Formats: sequence, structure tokens, C-alpha cells
Amino acid sequence: MSVLVVIEHDRGTLSPASLEALTAARTVDADVHALTLGASADSLAGTLAAHGASVVHQVHHDLLNDFGPEAWGEAVAQAVRALQPAAVVACGTDRGNEVMAQAAARLDLPFVANCNEITVGDTWSIVRVRWGGSLLEQCTLDAATKLVTFAHHAVEAAEAIGAGSVSALAVELDASLGRTVVAERVERAAGVTLATAPLVVGGGRGVGSAEAFAPLEELAGLLGGVVGCSRAVTNNGWRNHTDQVGQTGTRIAPDLYMACGISGAIQHWVGAMASKKILAINTDAEANMVTKADYAVIGDLHKVIPAIIEEVRRRKGA
Ligand SMILES: Cc1cc2nc3c(=O)[nH]c(=O)nc-3n(C[C@H](O)[C@H](O)[C@H](O)COP(=O)(O)OP(=O)(O)OC[C@H]3O[C@@H](n4cnc5c(N)ncnc54)[C@H](O)[C@@H]3O)c2cc1C
Repeated sequence: MSVLVVIEHDRGTLSPASLEALTAARTVDADVHALTLGASADSLAGTLAAHGASVVHQVHHDLLNDFGPEAWGEAVAQAVRALQPAAVVACGTDRGNEVMAQAAARLDLPFVANCNEITVGDTWSIVRVRWGGSLLEQCTLDAATKLVTFAHHAVEAAEAIGAGSVSALAVELDASLGRTVVAERVERAAGVTLATAPLVVGGGRGVGSAEAFAPLEELAGLLGGVVGCSRAVTNNGWRNHTDQVGQTGTRIAPDLYMACGISGAIQHWVGAMASKKILAINTDAEANMVTKADYAVIGDLHKVIPAIIEEVRRRKGA
């Protein structure tokens, strides 16, 4: 038996989340196969092998040239019927969950989204993330073929040697499956994005105004990071929603999250908790963000941030 990993990509650009899915799949079965949809993904075979794929099944069809949940879901369902894997795994991104839900419905199989831990047996015991990360649910999964996604950032992608032999897989897709198609592409941001930045300088209501974000921008620029914010900030119109961290914003996982003037409400915390280290800057020593942080500076951010900028500049000799 094997585990089949659905590879997420956008016109041949690999989603890093897929490497997490390949890594997580190795915890449920030693024989990991990858499934790529669309000819543009053929070039990914080497990378997938370097992350443990023993076989890369490549599916070509005009309807798979761009992302479309119905066509992708039907292609996954046909691959499952043809290959009979013990399990199918994807990453719990928006696209990953949508495609797996489509496949599960077509196969009439149960699907468990956003798993954190899986204990494998005839019946799987699973801990999964619910309600944006504010709740962990324990459940069991009993099905002939088990369909799951791993929560984004639940595991860190790691390399492993796989044979990576390439195999073509044919599917038949009806034109009606092209119901949802990508019609237009808008470039949201150039360079490092909030979701992937190694450092995020987050500002909350304590920053006080849109203009007062300038030192946070300067610090993020000096350290190669980006600025994020809380919903209090977007509600006040100080920054765009694209900068919001949290349940109704972006999930971040930087090496360091500097949370400045942010209280750490649960809806913010679930978007920030995958950060490897958190530094809270807050006047309130009892603030939730301060008590959960790895490091804290109790003080006025309008004094602390300029002091950090000065020290960084001094050390850089700038
Ligand atoms: C359904 C729902 C979804 C939500 N989704 C999100 C979400 O995605 N993201 C999100 O962020 N919130 C979200 N919220 C809102 C969330 O509940 C909080 O209201 C919000 O996160 C608070 O933002 P804040 O920490 O900036 O403000 P506050 O809670 O007001 O905290 C401000 C902090 O700044 C500190 N402070 C003040 N002045 C200074 C200073 N000079 N120096 C240093 N510290 C100072 C204070 O001590 C305080 O801790 C959601 C709420 C709901 C109901």
C-alpha cells in the first residue's frame, strides 16, 4: 500500500505547503507517491523526489492547465480509483481542502481536514484543528481509503530521498468540470509576503495611528521582514486587510514575530501561534501576548522601537 500526496501548484510553481504534505505523509506510510495535475507541474518531479516521493504520477489534461476545484477533484478521484492508495494526503490550504472535499464527495468517502497528529492503525486516531486553531478536536477515521489534509504549518518540510520515478496517468474529464476557472490574476504584493516572511513586525491598537506605523516599516525593512497588524488596526482603517494577522486574516509562521501594542486576543493569536519565537512589546505586563511570548519588553512601543532601530543600525554600521 502507499500514500498518495496531492501536489498543490500554480501553473507549475510549487506551493511550499505541498512539501509539508509530503513530509507529513511519511508519518502515515513509508511508500509516498505524489500526484501532479497539469503538464506545467511535470518539472516538479525532481523536487518531489528530493522530498521522499518514490513515484510521481503525472496527469495531463487541458482542464488541468490552471486551477479548477471540480476538475482537480475529479482527477484526484480517478487517480484514487486507479492507484488504490491506502490514504490520500494534501496540505490544509484553501485549495488543498477544496480539492480534497471535491474528491471525497465523488468517491463517497469521509474526509478529515486540518490534521495535526495522526496515529495510524486500522482506524486512525486524529487530532485536528478546528475554529481557526482555537480548538483541537480528537476524532477517529475508519474508511477503506483515508482522505486527510494536514494543517498548514503543522509540520516543517524536510528532505528525504525518494526514487521519483515518473508515471503517466490518464484521466477522462468532461467539459462541464470546467465550471470554476481562474479568469483573472491580480498581483497582491511583490517580494516577501506576510504568510512566508521570516520576520514580521506586527502593530496593534497601541501603535495609535496609520502614520505611527512608519517606525515599524523601518524596522521591518532593516531586518528583511514585513509589517503585519491586528484587526483593531484594519477596523480603524490604518492599514489594509491584506496586512491583518489572525483568524480572519493571514496565518503567519516567521522565525520571529514582534508583536507591538497587540493584546493577543484569541482571534489574533491563532494566526500568530505558529511563529517560532515571539517578542511582545507592550505597556501591560499582563497582556495575553506578553504572557504567551518567548520574550517581552514592558514599555511604550514609541520609545522601544526607535531604540531597537538605533541598535540595529549601530550593529550594521549604517
Ligand atoms: C469573529 C472575529 C474575528 C476576528 N479576527 C481577528 C483577526 O483575524 N485578527 C485580529 O487581530 N483580531 C481579530 N479579531 C479581533 C480581536 O478579538 C481583538 O479585538 C483584536 O485582535 C484586538 O486588537 P489589538 O490587540 O490591536 O487591540 P487591543 O486589544 O485594544 O490591544 C492593544 C494593546 O496595546 C497595548 N498598548 C497600548 N498602548 C501601547 C504603547 N504605547 N506601547 C505598547 N503597548 C501599548 C495595550 O496594553 C494592549 O495590550 C476578531 C474578532 C472576532 C469577533
